[in-house]
Amino acid sequence: MSLRTEFVLAVEGLTVSFDGFKAVNGLSFYVDEGEIRVIIGPNGAGKTTVLDLICGRTQATGGSIKFRGKELTRMKEHAIVHAGVGRKFQNPSIYEDLTVFENLELSFPRGHSVFGALAFKRDAEVIAEVESIAETIFLTDDLDKSAGLLSHGQKQWLEIGMLLIQKPDLLMLDEPVAGMSVAERKKTAELLRRITEGRSVIVIEHDMQFVEDIADRVTVMHQGKMLSEGSMERVKNDPKVVEVYLGH
Ligand code: ADP
Ligand code: MG
Repeated sequence: MSLRTEFVLAVEGLTVSFDGFKAVNGLSFYVDEGEIRVIIGPNGAGKTTVLDLICGRTQATGGSIKFRGKELTRMKEHAIVHAGVGRKFQNPSIYEDLTVFENLELSFPRGHSVFGALAFKRDAEVIAEVESIAETIFLTDDLDKSAGLLSHGQKQWLEIGMLLIQKPDLLMLDEPVAGMSVAERKKTAELLRRITEGRSVIVIEHDMQFVEDIADRVTVMHQGKMLSEGSMERVKNDPKVVEVYLGH
């Protein structure tokens, strides 16, 4: 019996080959419940491709991805979202002409019921949920503002909020603080620490200060493989990691 039964995500021997080029090559890692895992590595290491594989955007050529025991590599993208995996891309995809409230409301997962009788009750539930999420993402005072008028950082938070309202058990963020001010980066770190109750987060990030602020564990990727893994303290003193970063 496995000793590590608390895994939310188990990636084992994951491989994808694009015309013979292995962008991800036999990668294995495990993410615990409540953990913030950061994936770092030089450009082209395969980090974004790993997220593409987990969310079903790219089909694996080998290996396995188990999420709460369910094999994801054979599931369609929408089914993976439904299973509880949320993924934020590098560029925010919010509706600029709609308000912050409307953006969050639109992302609220509606049931498939065709009966209208529950509509009123559901609206009250939606409003409460939108307000709660707005507080988490520092946008309580901007609910009626057009999303297009938000700062770059606020747009990123809004998109995180649009994922949170779907209550994913695993949230994946690709370079969430790129282009943010130092103050916004600090607030984003606080945001991520707030949202890990009952959930796990995988973050790809280059900003080492931000990584130090948020990571429980760090996975370093290089040429599609895992180069090193552990606490930030451990990986940043790993000679293999130092060599790869100095070589770039
Ligand atoms: P990272 O996010 O670590 O910078 P990526 O995962 O984006 O790296 O890319 C890893 C490698 O895989 C790169 O060499 C990239 O060009 C290649 N790659 C990514 N997606 C595809 C694809 N769909 N088809 C062909 N090559 C790809
Ligand atoms: Mg990338």
